[in-house]
Amino acid sequence: MNNMSKGDPSAVLQATPPYDLPPLPYDEDALDPVISAKTLNFHHGKHHNSYVNTLNDLVKGTEYADRSLEEIITGTGGQADKAKIFNNAAQVWNHSFFWHSLRSGGGGEPPAALKQKIEASFDSVDACCKELKSAGTGQFGSGWAWLVMDGDTLKVIKTPNAENPLTMGVKPLLTIDVWEHAYYLDYQNRRADFLDAVIDKLLNWEFALENMG
Ligand code: MN
Repeated sequence: MNNMSKGDPSAVLQATPPYDLPPLPYDEDALDPVISAKTLNFHHGKHHNSYVNTLNDLVKGTEYADRSLEEIITGTGGQADKAKIFNNAAQVWNHSFFWHSLRSGGGGEPPAALKQKIEASFDSVDACCKELKSAGTGQFGSGWAWLVMDGDTLKVIKTPNAENPLTMGVKPLLTIDVWEHAYYLDYQNRRADFLDAVIDKLLNWEFALENMG
C-alpha cells in the first residue's frame, strides 16, 4: 500500500482538487474501545467527508481549483473573506493528520530520539502529556491540541476551530481533535476522559518522530 492510498498527510497536502476522502490508515474498529467504530464511522465517513465535499464545491471554478491543498490552506489563512475555503481545506488536512496521530496500541514510551527531544523541551514525557491534556481541555469550544516543533524546541499549542500550525511557521508533529464530534458518542461531555484515554493508549509517537524530519 503506498502513502497516498493510506491518506498520508504529506501526500494529502500536495493533492489538487477535486479531492477524494483520504482513507483511514486502519480499520474503523482498530481504536476500539478508546474510540469506537461508530465514532470513527461518523467522524471519518460523515464529518471528514463533508469537509472534502464542501471544499470541492467551494474551489470549483476559482483561482484555487488547480492549487495544492497546502497552497490553499496557507493562501487563505487569516483572510476573513476566504474563511469558508480555509476552514474546509484546513479541516480536510487536520483530520488526515489526526488519523495518523493515533494507532492501536499507541501511547507509552516514545522512540528514543523523540523521547530525548521531549525531555529537553518539557523535562519529561509525563509533563508533555499533561500539557497536551491541558491544551485539549483548555480549548474553549471546538479546536485542536498539537505537539509542534518550533525551531529546535517542542511545544504544545491549542488552536480554535479549523486553525492549524501550517499557517504559524511551526511544524506539526501530532494532533488531537477536541471538537465534540470526536468524543461525544463515546464520552458524552467528558472531554478530559477522552484526552486521558487517547494520550495513554493511542498516541502515535512514531508518527510524531517521522514528522520531526
Ligand atoms: Mn473532527
